[in-house]
Amino acid sequence: MEENCVFCKIIKGEIPSKKVYEDEEFLAFYDINPAATIHILVIPKVHIENLQQVQDDTLISKAYRVIQKIAVQEKFAESGYRVIVNCGKDAGQEVMHLHFHILAGEKLGPKIR
Ligand code: AMP
Ligand code: ZN
Repeated sequence: MEENCVFCKIIKGEIPSKKVYEDEEFLAFYDINPAATIHILVIPKVHIENLQQVQDDTLISKAYRVIQKIAVQEKFAESGYRVIVNCGKDAGQEVMHLHFHILAGEKLGPKIR
C-alpha cells in the first residue's frame, strides 16, 4: 500500500468507489470520469506503479481472466469491449497504480490516438 495513492485508498476503503468485482488479488470499480457508456477500472490490490514495473509472471494473465469474468457478469461479453493500459508519461498515465481500463456498452470509436 502506498500512502498517497488514490487507488490504494480505494482498496483500503478510504475513498468511496462503485465496486463491480472483488477477489483476493483484484478490485474493479467504475471510472469516475467515464470515457464510454461502461467504463470500469481493474486494479491489482498490490501497489505496482505501472505495466513496466510488473515482475510477477502470472499477474497480467490473472487480470485478463478477471476482465473476462466482469464481461460476463456485466453482460458485455457478447457485444464486446476494449481494454486499455496507459503506461508512463507519453501514454498520459495519471494514476500511478497499474490499472486496466475496460470500455464497453456502445460501438467504440477509432482504436488509437
Ligand atoms: P490513466 O490516465 O490511465 O492513469 O487513468 C486514470 C483513470 O482513473 C481516469 O480515467 C480517471 O477518471 C480515473 N479515476 C481517478 N480517480 C478516480 C476515483 N477516485 N474513482 C474512480 N476513477 C478514478
Ligand atoms: Zn496504489
